[in-house]
Amino acid sequence: MTAPTDRTPHAPGPRVVIVGGVAAGMSAATRLRRLDESAEIIVFEQGRYVSFANCGLPYYVGGVIAERDALLLQTPASLRARFDLDVRVEHEVVAIDRAARTVTARDTATGATVVEAYDHLVLATGATPRLRAETAPDAAPVVTLRTVDDVDRITAVLAARGDEPGCAVVMGAGFIGLEATENLVRRGLQVTLVQQGARPMSPLDPEMAAAVVDVLAAHGVDVRTGTTMEALDAAGAHLSDGTVVRADLVVDARGVTPATELARAAGLTIGAAGGVVVDGHQRTEDPRVLAVGDAAEKTDAVSGAATLITMAGLANRHGRAAADVIAWDNGRLDTAPRAAAPALGTAIIGLFDLTVAMVGWSEQRLRAAGRQHRVIHTHPTDHAGYYPGAQRMAMKVMVDPLSGLILGAQIVGGNGVDKRIDVIATAMHAGLPAAELAHLELAYAPQYASAKDPVNMVGYVAENLATGLTDTVQWHELDAAVAGGATLIDVRSPQEFEAGAIPGSINIPVDALRDSFDALPEGDLIVHCQVGQRGHTAARILAQLGRQARNLDGGYLTWKAGAAVGALQPA
Ligand code: FAD
Repeated sequence: MTAPTDRTPHAPGPRVVIVGGVAAGMSAATRLRRLDESAEIIVFEQGRYVSFANCGLPYYVGGVIAERDALLLQTPASLRARFDLDVRVEHEVVAIDRAARTVTARDTATGATVVEAYDHLVLATGATPRLRAETAPDAAPVVTLRTVDDVDRITAVLAARGDEPGCAVVMGAGFIGLEATENLVRRGLQVTLVQQGARPMSPLDPEMAAAVVDVLAAHGVDVRTGTTMEALDAAGAHLSDGTVVRADLVVDARGVTPATELARAAGLTIGAAGGVVVDGHQRTEDPRVLAVGDAAEKTDAVSGAATLITMAGLANRHGRAAADVIAWDNGRLDTAPRAAAPALGTAIIGLFDLTVAMVGWSEQRLRAAGRQHRVIHTHPTDHAGYYPGAQRMAMKVMVDPLSGLILGAQIVGGNGVDKRIDVIATAMHAGLPAAELAHLELAYAPQYASAKDPVNMVGYVAENLATGLTDTVQWHELDAAVAGGATLIDVRSPQEFEAGAIPGSINIPVDALRDSFDALPEGDLIVHCQVGQRGHTAARILAQLGRQARNLDGGYLTWKAGAAVGALQPA
């Protein structure tokens, strides 16, 4: 072991050691250099690569990203040249001595250790994927999808199979599992997607997940929900549903846990959510040690509680924030860094031709937490319907009925999903009430949007609900309402009704409603159309004629999607 090295002569400023050289760690390093030319910045990375594009890894497997080099955004040499960083790959930090302010790093190639002193230490150790270890020796290889080495392993298996791609089992239908599935299908593999939960993409509410189920089926993916892989041997993957499926490759994508061993061993607090506890400035309880990225807990924007959100945007932002704190501590910033904004969990995934995006909490999570909420479903097109190529999306927004604030949103569709989720995330960040979405002045031309943008439309519905102009019933409340004596009136055209209708509904097209008014049955009325818009008009006609009617939120499409995928867990 070598003694702590001295400060390099050209670096009279603070000595900063960063553990982890990808998203959060490298953001911290490069931002700090932009703020403080005098700092000595050492980055230890246990892997062979730094600053690689981990979000691009699945697409290299699928061949969408053709060049492996495109994943490698920087090298230690380029980071030395541009940012004067001392980047040491294949160096695992194995211990922190907080009293002495040193770290011990082990060269993973030679086993030699080095001790480095720090004035500030940034832990950017990321998260560790769960990996199924116990397999028979003659079984298919089991890999995770987290590093460049992982994709090298996967592509080597695929290359060895040549023109016969074979079969893969993907464990876990979250973001990484779905991206792995898509890209293995792209490479010609038959994929069995094994998901312990009731549906793929479990953060999505059931009626929103229906499109995910459909797109996987359309691409030939064999989805096994409520299932786990119990054993793997030469015969294949033995699943808990009693079947054995062929597996030439198994991708274990069952999730990650924050890489906190180093912090824990150094006596830093690991929180209830499982990450390193930090304050709003990424400081641990030791002000000389900061933690960022997947390893650190965040503050949830909806609950205010500590949470884990393993996303690249937060990792980069918090890495940058850590650099600001260090620069401020050393007099290199004139303005005190602001505290981190609470985390919204904004996320998006492309799955074949489907785009799925979410922010904040789902309805099922709000119900489980017993949190009051109001739900809005809409099915707008991404741009004006009369302009060619319009694509329908399903939007769902959860609203706090007391404050009117947005608690979460989910959007599933094609074009334009990304734009709408980002506008809603921005509104949540700014603390705009949902009804305020009606008043946003958003860019419009027919090929991009509608004069009433889908986001505006959500605002109109929120406004109507908040003011009591409209009352809605949710798809999962319908059975109970009908059992309680409510009459369900389908206000679509007879052709639409013929093509598929909710059992027990009667068809009175909205245009005939005034003439049929006197013949309407007594008791509660629930109206519905295809997406909720004509239903709203029908409810307003009836209300002004003296009959209260609730509108089925999201109409037939939302009901159908919910009925196809399963029940929402009761509160
Ligand atoms: P990482 O980027 O994982 O970096 C941590 C680094 O620390 C690792 O390289 C690790 O080797 C190193 N390390 C750990 N311990 C030590 C030690 N003791 N000594 C030295 N080095 C150590 N997020 C999105 O928002 N959108 C996406 O589309 C998206 N796609 C993804 C696709 C894949 C396949 C993966 C794996 C992740 C994806 N993510 C995505 C998540 C995103 O990449 C992570 O949230 C982000 O990289 C976290 O940054 P981090 O710096 O905390 O951790």
